[in-house]
Amino acid sequence: MAKKPVNSDANGEDQDLTNDLALALETDQFFLVYQPTIDLQTDAFAGVEALIRWRHPDHGVVNPLTFIAGLEASGQIIPVGRWALNTACAQGAVWHAKGYRFAVSVNISYMQLDRAEFADDVAAALSSSRFDPALLVLEFSQRTLTRDAETTLRQLAPLVALGVRLAVDDFAPGDSPLADLERFPIDIVKLDKGFIAGITNAEVAAQIHNLVQRARTMKVQIFASGIEDEEQVKRLQLEEVDIGQGFFFSTPHEAVEIDRFLEDFAIFSGKPL
Ligand code: C2E
Ligand code: MG
Repeated sequence: MAKKPVNSDANGEDQDLTNDLALALETDQFFLVYQPTIDLQTDAFAGVEALIRWRHPDHGVVNPLTFIAGLEASGQIIPVGRWALNTACAQGAVWHAKGYRFAVSVNISYMQLDRAEFADDVAAALSSSRFDPALLVLEFSQRTLTRDAETTLRQLAPLVALGVRLAVDDFAPGDSPLADLERFPIDIVKLDKGFIAGITNAEVAAQIHNLVQRARTMKVQIFASGIEDEEQVKRLQLEEVDIGQGFFFSTPHEAVEIDRFLEDFAIFSGKPL
C-alpha cells in the first residue's frame, strides 16, 4: 500500500510524521544544502544560507516547508535545529580552512530561541567547530522577534555577546515598519522574496529605496531574497541593496557542489573569494 505523502495538518500534529522524523534524525536522513549569497555592489561571493532537506526513504528529498511545522509541533525542532547549527558551523570551518572566508547563515525556529540553553548550544557549535563567530549569521523571522520585545531583547543579548550576527528573515514592510525592529541588535534585514518579485512596480521600488536609506541610519545591511532575473539585480543595485540571493545566482546545493561553484565563480567573475 502506498504511504501517505509527507505533510502535517494545520497544527503540524501527525503521529506518523512525528515517528518518521524521529527515525530521520537517528538514521541521518537530514542533510543541509547551501545557497550562495552575493554582494550586489561588488559582485563578490558573500556567503551561504544553510537549508535543511530530508532524504525520505519513500518520498525522496523533501522540502522543509512540509516538515518544519511537524518538527515544531513535536518539539523535535530542538535536536534537529541543534544538528543543523552544528553541521553548518562544521562545514563553515572546512571552507574557512580552505581559505574561503565567508558568512554561513542558519535559520532558527522561535522554539530554539525560547530555550534558556540556546546561547549555550550556539557557543558549543562554535567551539567544537572552531568556526569564527563573526562569520555565523542566525536568522529569525520577523514574527519571532516581535512576539514580545522585552523577552526577545533578553534572549538576543547572550548571542550578541558571542559575536555572532543576527538577521531578520522574510521581512515584508507591509507586516510592520522597519522602525519596529530598530530596538533589536540586528545586523541584516532580509527582504521577503514576494516583495522582491514586485520590484518593477514603482511603488515597491520606492519602498525599497526608503528601506535602504533607513537601514543606513540603523547601520544594518539590506539583503534581497528570491532574485530570479537580471532586471531585478539591476534595480536592486540601483537602490544600493547590499546583498542578494536567488535562483538567478544559484539554487541551493550540497557542500561539495558549492566547492565547484566557488572555483567557477573565482574564474568567471575574476573576483577574489
Ligand atoms: P527561508 O529562510 O526564507 O529560505 C529561503 C527559501 O527560498 C529556500 O527555500 C530557498 O530554496 C528559496 N529560494 C531561494 N532563492 C529563490 C528564488 O530565487 N525563487 C524562489 N521562488 N525561491 C527561492 P527552502 O529551502 O524550501 O526553505 C524554506 C524555508 O524552510 C526557509 O525559508 C526557512 O524558513 C525554513 N528552513 C530551512 N532550513 C531550516 C532549518 O535548518 N531550520 C529552520 N528552523 N527552518 C529552516
Ligand atoms: Mg532564511
